[in-house]
Amino acid sequence: MPPTRKTTLKTPLKRIYNSASVPQKDCVFCKIVAGILPSYKVYEDSRHLAFLDINPFATGHTLVCPKKHGETLWDMDEHEIADVFKVASKVSMGVVYAMGADGFRIMQNNGEAANQAVAHIHVHVIPSKLEEKGKFSRLKLSEDEMARVADAIKSEIAGLP
Ligand code: AMP
Ligand code: ZN
Repeated sequence: MPPTRKTTLKTPLKRIYNSASVPQKDCVFCKIVAGILPSYKVYEDSRHLAFLDINPFATGHTLVCPKKHGETLWDMDEHEIADVFKVASKVSMGVVYAMGADGFRIMQNNGEAANQAVAHIHVHVIPSKLEEKGKFSRLKLSEDEMARVADAIKSEIAGLP
């Protein structure tokens, strides 16, 4: 029997150091999933939630997370990993169409060394425009703008085949 990907990913030998680790009850994204904290949602299915990043690198910057808590990619099995990236790919179309972008970045940080600030697995979907090529700094949008952007992305995703 060949080893499963889960076995190869979950090595007991080395743990990724993550200063963002908190007990699950204090996890910000679990609270967003549970509706205890607000978010600008753009997509939801039974196992995933996608919402706008509150401190975006570009207008439309979206986070896709599994509803099930886990800190890093190594906490998911191969099907869960495939599924969250499939959702990120679908969400990227809504983000790019709604923002009139020309491309997008996918980013996924694991551990403090990689700048992970929220210890709940999430995939960043960041739209890019040719005229802003090379610019990569945090923005702060108004609540109205965040709501407008989320609505635009949501309706683009809803229109996808
Ligand atoms: P990472 O560095 O990959 O852990 O990214 C965490 C991201 O979560 C950052 O880009 C933050 O701006 C974003 N973030 C933190 N808290 C919230 C929140 N309550 N709602 C939406 N995004 C958040
Ligand atoms: Zn969590």
